[in-house]
Amino acid sequence: MRLVGGRLALDFVNTADWSAGGRVVHEKLEVPEDLDVWTEAVGLERVDGPTDIADLHRFRSDLRQRLLDPQAPAGELPDLRISDRDPPGLRDALLVSAYAILMDRRERARLKICAGDDCGWLFIDESRGARRQWCSMETCGNRAKARRHYARHRGAADPDG
Ligand SMILES: [Zn+2]
Repeated sequence: MRLVGGRLALDFVNTADWSAGGRVVHEKLEVPEDLDVWTEAVGLERVDGPTDIADLHRFRSDLRQRLLDPQAPAGELPDLRISDRDPPGLRDALLVSAYAILMDRRERARLKICAGDDCGWLFIDESRGARRQWCSMETCGNRAKARRHYARHRGAADPDG
């Protein structure tokens, strides 16, 4: 589990890779045990009972949509209400994290989506000058670099290119 979002809610939506259209192209939370691995990795205390994984996927997709489009009418995303449970559950923790980003202009200004193809990961850009483009240089950054290199190379060898 790579954790590059910099915030709990972002690392959670990054448990899948997303197409530009918001479709899951690679799923990392296939079974409830995968969620246990993730909560362990982020160090989150679990007080919830068993997880309905399909339901969690829906919640994650709604949460991501909300992060990307804070103006989306709340009525269309009914899952995204913080409960009054005590102690709070996993979703409450994720929602608090998401709203802490959305309600803070400084955070929202630095919220970015990875420029890699079919990645769609979200992160808070805390780099100097806010020039970070990739979820991580090791994956999407290097792939883009290799692609540019290949295109240049091919262009030089091909008289038509
Ligand atoms: Zn990426």
